Amino acid sequence: MTGFYQGRAWIELSRAALRHNVEQLQSLLPPNCVLMPAVKANAYGHGAVLIARELNALGINAFCVATVFEGIELRQGGIAGEILILGYTHPQYVPLLVQYHLTQTILDHRYALELNACGQIINVHIKLDTGMHRLGESCENLDKIQRIFACQFLRTTGVYTHLYEDDLTLPSNREAALTQGKAFYQAVGHLKHIGCQIPKVHILASSGLLHCSEIGGNYARAGIALYGQLSTNDEWKKAGVVLKPVLSLKARITLIREIAQGEGAGYGHQFQAKRNTKIAVAAIGYGDGIPRSLSNGVGAALVRGRVAPIVGRVCMDQTLLDVTDIPFAVSVDTAVFIGASGEQEITACDVAEQTETISNEVLSRLSTRLNRLVV
Ligand SMILES: *Cc1c(COP(=O)(O)O)cnc(C)c1O
Repeated sequence: MTGFYQGRAWIELSRAALRHNVEQLQSLLPPNCVLMPAVKANAYGHGAVLIARELNALGINAFCVATVFEGIELRQGGIAGEILILGYTHPQYVPLLVQYHLTQTILDHRYALELNACGQIINVHIKLDTGMHRLGESCENLDKIQRIFACQFLRTTGVYTHLYEDDLTLPSNREAALTQGKAFYQAVGHLKHIGCQIPKVHILASSGLLHCSEIGGNYARAGIALYGQLSTNDEWKKAGVVLKPVLSLKARITLIREIAQGEGAGYGHQFQAKRNTKIAVAAIGYGDGIPRSLSNGVGAALVRGRVAPIVGRVCMDQTLLDVTDIPFAVSVDTAVFIGASGEQEITACDVAEQTETISNEVLSRLSTRLNRLVV
Protein backbone atom coordinates (compact mmCIF):
# COMPACT_ATOMS: atom_id res chain seq x y z
CA MET A 1 0.00 0.00 0.00
CA THR A 2 2.72 2.47 0.96
CA GLY A 3 4.57 1.69 -2.24
CA PHE A 4 1.43 2.29 -4.16
CA TYR A 5 1.01 5.82 -2.94
CA GLN A 6 4.44 6.59 -4.32
CA GLY A 7 2.73 6.40 -7.71
CA ARG A 8 1.83 9.44 -9.78
CA ALA A 9 -1.85 8.80 -10.53
CA TRP A 10 -4.15 6.03 -9.44
CA ILE A 11 -7.64 4.65 -9.01
CA GLU A 12 -9.01 3.59 -5.64
CA LEU A 13 -11.88 1.10 -5.67
CA SER A 14 -14.14 1.01 -2.64
CA ARG A 15 -14.92 -2.58 -1.65
CA ALA A 16 -17.63 -1.34 0.72
CA ALA A 17 -19.34 0.69 -2.01
CA LEU A 18 -19.23 -2.25 -4.44
CA ARG A 19 -20.75 -4.58 -1.86
CA HIS A 20 -23.40 -1.98 -1.05
CA ASN A 21 -24.36 -1.63 -4.72
CA VAL A 22 -24.48 -5.40 -5.19
CA GLU A 23 -26.85 -5.71 -2.23
CA GLN A 24 -29.04 -2.85 -3.45
CA LEU A 25 -29.31 -4.33 -6.94
CA GLN A 26 -29.87 -7.85 -5.62
CA SER A 27 -32.83 -6.52 -3.63
CA LEU A 28 -34.44 -5.52 -6.93
CA LEU A 29 -33.91 -8.81 -8.78
CA PRO A 30 -37.03 -10.53 -10.06
CA PRO A 31 -37.58 -14.18 -9.02
CA ASN A 32 -35.05 -16.73 -10.40
CA CYS A 33 -32.75 -13.95 -11.52
CA VAL A 34 -29.11 -13.34 -10.59
CA LEU A 35 -26.66 -10.58 -11.44
CA MET A 36 -24.45 -11.01 -14.50
CA PRO A 37 -22.28 -7.92 -14.08
CA ALA A 38 -21.01 -6.21 -17.21
CA VAL A 39 -17.23 -5.93 -16.76
CA LYS A 40 -16.47 -4.96 -20.35
CA ALA A 41 -14.05 -2.13 -21.17
CA ASN A 42 -11.92 -3.03 -18.15
CA ALA A 43 -15.02 -2.95 -15.91
CA TYR A 44 -15.91 0.55 -17.12
CA GLY A 45 -12.35 1.62 -16.40
CA HIS A 46 -12.36 0.27 -12.86
CA GLY A 47 -10.16 -2.78 -13.57
CA ALA A 48 -11.87 -5.94 -14.79
CA VAL A 49 -9.95 -8.57 -12.86
CA LEU A 50 -10.00 -6.60 -9.60
CA ILE A 51 -13.74 -6.00 -9.82
CA ALA A 52 -14.59 -9.53 -10.96
CA ARG A 53 -12.51 -11.01 -8.12
CA GLU A 54 -14.42 -8.92 -5.60
CA LEU A 55 -17.68 -10.03 -7.18
CA ASN A 56 -16.63 -13.69 -7.21
CA ALA A 57 -15.95 -13.31 -3.47
CA LEU A 58 -19.50 -11.98 -3.04
CA GLY A 59 -20.84 -15.14 -4.68
CA ILE A 60 -21.39 -13.74 -8.15
CA ASN A 61 -20.62 -16.30 -10.84
CA ALA A 62 -21.68 -14.84 -14.16
CA PHE A 63 -20.14 -11.96 -16.08
CA CYS A 64 -20.39 -10.32 -19.44
CA VAL A 65 -17.60 -8.77 -21.48
CA ALA A 66 -17.43 -7.26 -24.95
CA THR A 67 -14.57 -9.23 -26.49
CA VAL A 68 -12.90 -12.63 -26.41
CA PHE A 69 -9.68 -11.10 -25.07
CA GLU A 70 -11.54 -9.44 -22.21
CA GLY A 71 -12.87 -12.90 -21.38
CA ILE A 72 -9.39 -14.42 -21.51
CA GLU A 73 -8.05 -11.68 -19.22
CA LEU A 74 -10.64 -12.63 -16.62
CA ARG A 75 -9.81 -16.33 -16.86
CA GLN A 76 -6.09 -15.63 -16.58
CA GLY A 77 -6.93 -13.56 -13.50
CA GLY A 78 -8.58 -16.61 -11.97
CA ILE A 79 -12.21 -15.60 -12.42
CA ALA A 80 -14.70 -18.45 -12.10
CA GLY A 81 -18.19 -18.83 -13.51
CA GLU A 82 -19.89 -18.14 -16.81
CA ILE A 83 -18.37 -15.44 -19.00
CA LEU A 84 -20.55 -14.25 -21.86
CA ILE A 85 -19.01 -12.33 -24.77
CA LEU A 86 -21.58 -9.75 -25.87
CA GLY A 87 -19.94 -8.81 -29.16
CA TYR A 88 -18.33 -10.20 -32.30
CA THR A 89 -15.61 -12.84 -32.15
CA HIS A 90 -13.85 -13.84 -35.37
CA PRO A 91 -14.34 -17.54 -36.17
CA GLN A 92 -10.55 -18.02 -36.07
CA TYR A 93 -10.79 -17.52 -32.28
CA VAL A 94 -13.23 -20.38 -31.72
CA PRO A 95 -10.41 -22.50 -30.22
CA LEU A 96 -9.93 -19.75 -27.60
CA LEU A 97 -13.63 -19.91 -26.71
CA VAL A 98 -13.18 -23.62 -26.07
CA GLN A 99 -9.87 -23.30 -24.21
CA TYR A 100 -11.11 -20.57 -21.85
CA HIS A 101 -14.71 -21.80 -21.46
CA LEU A 102 -16.23 -18.61 -22.81
CA THR A 103 -19.81 -18.30 -24.00
CA GLN A 104 -20.23 -16.53 -27.33
CA THR A 105 -23.20 -14.41 -28.38
CA ILE A 106 -24.76 -15.43 -31.68
CA LEU A 107 -25.22 -12.13 -33.53
CA ASP A 108 -27.51 -13.47 -36.25
CA HIS A 109 -28.27 -16.55 -38.31
CA ARG A 110 -25.40 -16.04 -40.76
CA TYR A 111 -22.89 -15.69 -37.91
CA ALA A 112 -24.18 -18.90 -36.31
CA LEU A 113 -23.41 -20.82 -39.51
CA GLU A 114 -19.89 -19.37 -39.61
CA LEU A 115 -19.13 -20.44 -36.04
CA ASN A 116 -20.77 -23.81 -36.53
CA ALA A 117 -18.57 -24.42 -39.56
CA CYS A 118 -15.51 -24.34 -37.28
CA GLY A 119 -16.54 -27.78 -36.04
CA GLN A 120 -15.73 -27.26 -32.37
CA ILE A 121 -18.44 -27.40 -29.72
CA ILE A 122 -18.97 -24.04 -28.03
CA ASN A 123 -21.53 -22.61 -25.62
CA VAL A 124 -23.61 -19.79 -27.06
CA HIS A 125 -26.36 -17.38 -26.12
CA ILE A 126 -28.53 -16.38 -29.06
CA LYS A 127 -29.27 -12.67 -29.22
CA LEU A 128 -32.66 -11.62 -30.51
CA ASP A 129 -33.31 -8.19 -31.96
CA THR A 130 -36.53 -6.87 -30.49
CA GLY A 131 -36.14 -3.26 -31.63
CA MET A 132 -32.65 -1.97 -30.83
CA HIS A 133 -31.57 -2.94 -34.38
CA ARG A 134 -27.96 -3.37 -33.34
CA LEU A 135 -27.02 -7.02 -32.76
CA GLY A 136 -29.34 -10.02 -32.81
CA GLU A 137 -31.38 -12.12 -35.18
CA SER A 138 -34.77 -10.53 -35.68
CA CYS A 139 -37.24 -12.03 -33.20
CA GLU A 140 -39.65 -12.41 -36.11
CA ASN A 141 -37.37 -14.78 -38.03
CA LEU A 142 -38.40 -17.83 -36.02
CA ASP A 143 -37.31 -20.24 -38.77
CA LYS A 144 -33.81 -18.84 -38.79
CA ILE A 145 -33.62 -18.88 -34.99
CA GLN A 146 -34.77 -22.49 -34.98
CA ARG A 147 -31.98 -23.31 -37.42
CA ILE A 148 -29.47 -21.74 -35.03
CA PHE A 149 -30.71 -24.13 -32.32
CA ALA A 150 -30.21 -26.98 -34.76
CA CYS A 151 -26.52 -26.16 -35.36
CA GLN A 152 -24.56 -29.25 -34.44
CA PHE A 153 -21.59 -27.54 -32.79
CA LEU A 154 -23.47 -24.74 -30.98
CA ARG A 155 -24.74 -25.54 -27.49
CA THR A 156 -27.37 -22.91 -26.80
CA THR A 157 -27.41 -22.16 -23.09
CA GLY A 158 -29.27 -18.86 -23.27
CA VAL A 159 -31.34 -16.44 -25.32
CA TYR A 160 -31.37 -12.71 -24.73
CA THR A 161 -32.22 -9.28 -25.98
CA HIS A 162 -31.32 -5.68 -25.12
CA LEU A 163 -33.55 -2.69 -24.43
CA TYR A 164 -32.97 0.39 -26.57
CA GLU A 165 -34.31 3.00 -24.16
CA ASP A 166 -31.61 3.91 -21.64
CA ASP A 167 -33.57 6.19 -19.30
CA LEU A 168 -36.45 4.05 -18.09
CA THR A 169 -37.59 6.62 -15.54
CA LEU A 170 -39.73 8.13 -18.31
CA PRO A 171 -43.16 6.48 -18.72
CA SER A 172 -43.04 6.50 -22.55
CA ASN A 173 -39.65 4.77 -22.47
CA ARG A 174 -40.96 2.18 -20.00
CA GLU A 175 -43.77 1.50 -22.45
CA ALA A 176 -41.25 0.82 -25.23
CA ALA A 177 -39.29 -1.50 -22.93
CA LEU A 178 -42.38 -3.48 -22.00
CA THR A 179 -43.23 -3.84 -25.69
CA GLN A 180 -39.75 -5.23 -26.35
CA GLY A 181 -40.17 -7.61 -23.41
CA LYS A 182 -43.45 -8.84 -24.84
CA ALA A 183 -41.92 -9.46 -28.28
CA PHE A 184 -39.03 -11.33 -26.67
CA TYR A 185 -41.18 -13.67 -24.58
CA GLN A 186 -43.47 -14.29 -27.51
CA ALA A 187 -40.51 -15.52 -29.57
CA VAL A 188 -39.16 -17.55 -26.64
CA GLY A 189 -42.57 -19.10 -26.04
CA HIS A 190 -42.85 -20.10 -29.67
CA LEU A 191 -39.36 -21.60 -29.73
CA LYS A 192 -40.07 -23.65 -26.60
CA HIS A 193 -43.34 -24.78 -28.12
CA ILE A 194 -41.54 -26.21 -31.14
CA GLY A 195 -39.07 -28.03 -28.91
CA CYS A 196 -36.07 -25.72 -28.54
CA GLN A 197 -34.32 -26.08 -25.18
CA ILE A 198 -33.76 -22.64 -23.63
CA PRO A 199 -31.99 -22.89 -20.24
CA LYS A 200 -31.64 -19.14 -19.55
CA VAL A 201 -33.21 -15.92 -20.81
CA HIS A 202 -32.16 -12.35 -20.06
CA ILE A 203 -33.09 -8.79 -20.98
CA LEU A 204 -32.32 -6.28 -18.26
CA ALA A 205 -29.29 -3.99 -17.96
CA SER A 206 -28.95 -1.36 -15.19
CA SER A 207 -31.85 0.88 -16.11
CA GLY A 208 -34.14 -2.08 -16.78
CA LEU A 209 -33.33 -3.60 -13.41
CA LEU A 210 -33.96 -0.32 -11.61
CA HIS A 211 -37.18 0.63 -13.35
CA CYS A 212 -38.63 -2.35 -15.27
CA SER A 213 -37.66 -5.40 -13.24
CA GLU A 214 -41.10 -6.91 -13.89
CA ILE A 215 -39.74 -7.84 -17.33
CA GLY A 216 -37.87 -10.59 -15.47
CA GLY A 217 -35.32 -13.03 -16.85
CA ASN A 218 -32.63 -15.22 -15.30
CA TYR A 219 -29.78 -12.71 -15.47
CA ALA A 220 -29.60 -8.96 -15.01
CA ARG A 221 -26.62 -7.63 -16.98
CA ALA A 222 -25.96 -4.67 -14.72
CA GLY A 223 -22.97 -2.50 -15.55
CA ILE A 224 -22.98 1.17 -14.69
CA ALA A 225 -25.29 0.87 -11.64
CA LEU A 226 -23.00 -1.68 -10.05
CA TYR A 227 -20.20 0.87 -10.15
CA GLY A 228 -22.45 3.22 -8.18
CA GLN A 229 -23.25 5.54 -11.06
CA LEU A 230 -25.83 5.97 -13.74
CA SER A 231 -25.19 7.62 -17.07
CA THR A 232 -26.29 11.08 -15.87
CA ASN A 233 -26.79 12.86 -12.54
CA ASP A 234 -30.49 13.06 -13.31
CA GLU A 235 -30.85 9.28 -13.67
CA TRP A 236 -28.68 8.74 -10.61
CA LYS A 237 -31.00 10.89 -8.48
CA LYS A 238 -34.06 9.01 -9.77
CA ALA A 239 -32.56 5.54 -9.27
CA GLY A 240 -34.89 4.60 -6.42
CA VAL A 241 -32.01 2.99 -4.53
CA VAL A 242 -28.87 4.61 -3.17
CA LEU A 243 -25.88 3.80 -5.37
CA LYS A 244 -22.42 4.61 -4.06
CA PRO A 245 -19.57 5.42 -6.48
CA VAL A 246 -16.93 2.70 -6.36
CA LEU A 247 -14.14 4.59 -8.11
CA SER A 248 -11.98 7.52 -7.06
CA LEU A 249 -9.42 8.99 -9.44
CA LYS A 250 -6.46 10.67 -7.79
CA ALA A 251 -3.12 12.16 -8.74
CA ARG A 252 -0.12 13.43 -6.88
CA ILE A 253 0.73 17.09 -6.93
CA THR A 254 4.35 17.05 -7.97
CA LEU A 255 5.18 20.72 -7.52
CA ILE A 256 3.64 24.06 -6.73
CA ARG A 257 4.81 27.30 -8.31
CA GLU A 258 3.75 30.93 -8.16
CA ILE A 259 3.29 33.02 -11.28
CA ALA A 260 2.78 36.77 -11.33
CA GLN A 261 -0.28 38.61 -12.58
CA GLY A 262 -0.08 38.92 -16.38
CA GLU A 263 1.96 35.74 -16.90
CA GLY A 264 0.66 32.77 -18.88
CA ALA A 265 0.78 29.03 -18.16
CA GLY A 266 0.60 25.84 -20.17
CA TYR A 267 0.51 25.20 -23.94
CA GLY A 268 -0.41 28.29 -25.92
CA HIS A 269 -0.49 30.28 -22.68
CA GLN A 270 -4.24 29.87 -22.78
CA PHE A 271 -4.26 30.67 -19.11
CA GLN A 272 -3.45 34.30 -18.32
CA ALA A 273 -3.04 35.10 -14.64
CA LYS A 274 -5.42 37.88 -13.61
CA ARG A 275 -3.74 37.96 -10.21
CA ASN A 276 -0.65 36.46 -8.65
CA THR A 277 -1.47 32.78 -8.93
CA LYS A 278 -0.34 29.62 -7.19
CA ILE A 279 -0.32 26.72 -9.62
CA ALA A 280 -0.15 23.04 -8.68
CA VAL A 281 1.08 20.50 -11.22
CA ALA A 282 -0.90 17.24 -10.97
CA ALA A 283 0.74 14.14 -12.46
CA ILE A 284 -2.19 13.07 -14.61
CA GLY A 285 -3.41 14.04 -18.08
CA TYR A 286 -5.47 13.05 -21.07
CA GLY A 287 -3.16 10.05 -21.53
CA ASP A 288 -4.71 8.77 -18.31
CA GLY A 289 -8.25 9.58 -19.39
CA ILE A 290 -8.72 13.12 -18.07
CA PRO A 291 -10.84 14.62 -20.88
CA ARG A 292 -8.94 17.41 -22.64
CA SER A 293 -12.23 19.26 -22.92
CA LEU A 294 -11.96 19.97 -19.18
CA SER A 295 -9.22 22.50 -20.05
CA ASN A 296 -9.38 26.19 -19.15
CA GLY A 297 -11.48 25.95 -16.03
CA VAL A 298 -14.24 23.76 -17.47
CA GLY A 299 -13.20 21.10 -14.97
CA ALA A 300 -11.56 21.04 -11.58
CA ALA A 301 -9.95 18.76 -9.02
CA LEU A 302 -10.29 18.73 -5.25
CA VAL A 303 -7.29 19.57 -3.08
CA ARG A 304 -7.63 19.51 0.71
CA GLY A 305 -11.42 19.53 0.37
CA ARG A 306 -11.40 22.65 -1.82
CA VAL A 307 -12.12 23.12 -5.52
CA ALA A 308 -9.01 23.76 -7.63
CA PRO A 309 -9.99 24.77 -11.20
CA ILE A 310 -8.02 23.35 -14.12
CA VAL A 311 -5.62 25.97 -15.52
CA GLY A 312 -4.88 26.13 -19.25
CA ARG A 313 -4.90 23.04 -21.42
CA VAL A 314 -4.86 19.53 -19.99
CA CYS A 315 -1.62 17.90 -21.23
CA MET A 316 -1.00 14.23 -21.96
CA ASP A 317 0.68 13.54 -18.61
CA GLN A 318 0.15 16.67 -16.49
CA THR A 319 -2.65 19.00 -15.52
CA LEU A 320 -2.25 22.44 -13.95
CA LEU A 321 -4.56 23.50 -11.12
CA ASP A 322 -5.22 26.89 -9.57
CA VAL A 323 -4.63 26.49 -5.83
CA THR A 324 -4.25 30.21 -5.03
CA ASP A 325 -7.17 30.02 -2.60
CA ILE A 326 -6.02 26.81 -0.94
CA PRO A 327 -3.51 28.21 1.54
CA PHE A 328 -1.87 25.04 2.84
CA ALA A 329 -1.61 23.15 -0.45
CA VAL A 330 1.81 21.50 -0.70
CA SER A 331 3.61 19.49 -3.30
CA VAL A 332 2.87 16.11 -1.74
CA ASP A 333 -0.89 16.65 -1.66
CA THR A 334 -3.32 14.53 -3.60
CA ALA A 335 -5.60 16.02 -6.23
CA VAL A 336 -8.94 14.22 -6.53
CA PHE A 337 -10.35 14.32 -10.07
CA ILE A 338 -13.23 11.93 -9.37
CA GLY A 339 -14.31 11.23 -5.81
CA ALA A 340 -14.65 12.97 -2.48
CA SER A 341 -12.32 15.24 -0.55
CA GLY A 342 -13.56 16.74 2.70
CA GLU A 343 -17.11 17.97 2.14
CA GLN A 344 -16.67 18.21 -1.63
CA GLU A 345 -17.28 15.54 -4.25
CA ILE A 346 -16.79 15.33 -8.01
CA THR A 347 -18.64 12.39 -9.55
CA ALA A 348 -18.09 10.77 -12.94
CA CYS A 349 -21.52 12.20 -13.83
CA ASP A 350 -20.26 15.71 -13.00
CA VAL A 351 -17.31 15.22 -15.34
CA ALA A 352 -19.69 13.81 -17.95
CA GLU A 353 -21.86 16.93 -17.72
CA GLN A 354 -18.84 19.19 -18.08
CA THR A 355 -17.69 17.29 -21.16
CA GLU A 356 -21.12 16.69 -22.70
CA THR A 357 -21.10 12.91 -22.50
CA ILE A 358 -22.23 10.16 -20.11
CA SER A 359 -20.38 8.78 -17.09
CA ASN A 360 -19.96 5.45 -18.90
CA GLU A 361 -17.64 7.10 -21.43
CA VAL A 362 -15.69 9.08 -18.83
CA LEU A 363 -15.05 5.93 -16.80
CA SER A 364 -14.35 3.48 -19.61
CA ARG A 365 -11.68 5.79 -21.05
CA LEU A 366 -9.59 5.72 -17.86
CA SER A 367 -6.28 4.39 -19.06
CA THR A 368 -4.52 1.18 -18.10
CA ARG A 369 -1.56 3.42 -17.21
CA LEU A 370 -3.31 4.24 -13.92
CA ASN A 371 -2.55 2.01 -10.97
CA ARG A 372 -5.65 0.46 -9.44
CA LEU A 373 -6.19 -0.78 -5.94
CA VAL A 374 -9.05 -1.93 -3.77
CA VAL A 375 -9.38 -0.04 -0.49
C1 LIG B 1 -22.99 -2.77 -21.79
C2 LIG B 1 -24.15 -3.68 -21.83
C3 LIG B 1 -24.87 -3.93 -20.66
C4 LIG B 1 -24.67 -3.18 -19.37
O1 LIG B 1 -25.31 -1.94 -19.49
P1 LIG B 1 -25.43 -0.91 -18.26
O2 LIG B 1 -26.36 0.13 -18.77
O3 LIG B 1 -24.07 -0.38 -18.00
O4 LIG B 1 -25.98 -1.66 -17.12
C5 LIG B 1 -25.87 -4.89 -20.74
N1 LIG B 1 -26.15 -5.53 -21.89
C6 LIG B 1 -25.49 -5.30 -23.04
C7 LIG B 1 -25.84 -6.04 -24.28
C8 LIG B 1 -24.48 -4.33 -23.05
O5 LIG B 1 -23.82 -4.08 -24.19
